[in-house]
Amino acid sequence: MEAGAIKKTIVLKGIGVSPGIVNGRAYLFNCQDLPTTYYKLDTKVLVSKEVKRFRNALKASSRELLEIKERISRKEGIEPLFVDIHIMILKDKMFIRETVENIRERRVNAEWALKLTLVKYRDIFKKMGDEYIRERINDVEYVSERILRNLSGKSCEKISDIEEEVIIIARDLSPADTIQINTEKVLGFATDIGGKTSHTAIVARSMEIPAVVGLERVARQIQTGDHVIIDGTAGVVIINPDPEILKRYEDKKKHYQIMAKNLIRNAALPAVTRDNYRVEIGANIEFVEEIPSAVSHGTDGVGLYRTEFIYVNKEQLPTEEEHFLNYKRVVSDPGLKWATIRTFDLGGDKFVSDPRLAEEMNPAMGLRAIRFCLREVDLFKVQLRAILRASIHGKTKILFPMISGVAEIREAKKILCDVKEELRNEGVPIDENIEIGIMIEVPSAVMMADKLAEEVDFFSIGTNDLIQYSLAIDRVNERVTYLYEPLHPAILRLIKHVVDAGHDAGIKIAMCGEMAGEPFYSLILLGLGIDELSMTPLAIPRMKNIIRAATLKESKNLLDTVMSFSMVKEIEEYVRSYMVKRFPEDFPINNASYR
Ligand code: PEP
Ligand code: MG
Repeated sequence: MEAGAIKKTIVLKGIGVSPGIVNGRAYLFNCQDLPTTYYKLDTKVLVSKEVKRFRNALKASSRELLEIKERISRKEGIEPLFVDIHIMILKDKMFIRETVENIRERRVNAEWALKLTLVKYRDIFKKMGDEYIRERINDVEYVSERILRNLSGKSCEKISDIEEEVIIIARDLSPADTIQINTEKVLGFATDIGGKTSHTAIVARSMEIPAVVGLERVARQIQTGDHVIIDGTAGVVIINPDPEILKRYEDKKKHYQIMAKNLIRNAALPAVTRDNYRVEIGANIEFVEEIPSAVSHGTDGVGLYRTEFIYVNKEQLPTEEEHFLNYKRVVSDPGLKWATIRTFDLGGDKFVSDPRLAEEMNPAMGLRAIRFCLREVDLFKVQLRAILRASIHGKTKILFPMISGVAEIREAKKILCDVKEELRNEGVPIDENIEIGIMIEVPSAVMMADKLAEEVDFFSIGTNDLIQYSLAIDRVNERVTYLYEPLHPAILRLIKHVVDAGHDAGIKIAMCGEMAGEPFYSLILLGLGIDELSMTPLAIPRMKNIIRAATLKESKNLLDTVMSFSMVKEIEEYVRSYMVKRFPEDFPINNASYR
């Protein structure tokens, strides 16, 4: 291109995983793909030398990761779980054996042997039903790249060394990279790879840096120094924006900044309607590292700790002590009034490496959650012991997932009672009055809500699964997402039935599915009488803001009106037009987040 020539504006659409708009100069991080060499090894001596070279590269990679781990611990005061996962992959016996066998049997160089292993792993992960586990291939790819770099003798670029104000563009960023970003310098990032539930996305949200992932080719379309805009809210990246686009985005950015500032400024205020109806606000967390963000976004407590994430990517089951330390950290956090710890929602598609779980035809309806725990009682008891031990360090509630009827909750309670007794006999202090709740996410539990309410202290409605099971929509099948409708009249009736049954029995009703954090549904949820809404931390300020501007009376009126409709389309249109008119600032007409 001639000097001074105007570069073409390119707009790319990806997945916005961390909101906000930034604009600045691009910096390509570690993007130069290492060419994978291929050569044959003619003699046995060369083969053994190659195996040694591979093992040395593993050692060098391990040293680097330990160094990163130490740096993060020193800087952030936390033990970075992500780095541990990468170290674990480096030590994974199957991963090493496969590569060494490739070198020995195929007599190829270590780089090529490693690539062959990676191809095999990609295949295995592609077949995983659970999106979260599928995305863990990114961790394997990341580790492989580090090994390849060490094989090549080239040093790895360190993200923490970036000292200019830039927007990072990369094929992929590992969570370990992301957590080391100097947020005063790095304005945001965009990557080719990744999805909403990747660790990297979670870290970006908690560090509050705008990020777009899953762009597929961004690292090939941008050069260091190019001007880029990242819109993490809309999931858009604009390369070399023309002056008009730039001006539009500057305005949009100012608008977001004012909104975000106002929202965060008020985040600590309680979610009380103008007519004095208070809703408790909880945060959904998967990792303890998310707690600071949850607190700064104004949560009252943790409404859902998805403890199964402690297991993901682990070769061995966590010990009682590991569980305990995790739970203690959550319940004793001074910023949280309470923490609801959900026992593992584990099984079928979520469990990675334990041979006790067979592959299932339909994992969503298989040996999952409480069913799995009631089958594997010893494993269940380890977790219950840890939760009970942690319960004296702060207000703790236990939540059992996927309860489908009274027999299941009685069985779970019996095991809990046995564990309490064991601990008492050992002289271990516990909170004797720990609250017990169940997830209402199976339609049979909705129908039995009156009887179930007699068994527990609270309900938490898991709309993600409740919608999946009631409308017969596989929540991970993108071909039927258009049918995944929280405002379906059947869903509203199911929720109302649960709330009424629970309230008649004098217990509180929480909601922790994604529906609870969608501002468009806020008035409907208020009208339904939900006592606690638990959501991803970033959603909290906006949700609270709307609740504070609304009244319970208008919410009940809105709900009454939509309950008389018989089709989801009518309800959606009515709610949309009501919310847009009532809260024009919060819902600009073309809000992309609304279906
Ligand atoms: C739900 O089903 O709504 C829920 C919150 O649980 P999960 O998304 O972990 O299944
Ligand atoms: Mg669920």
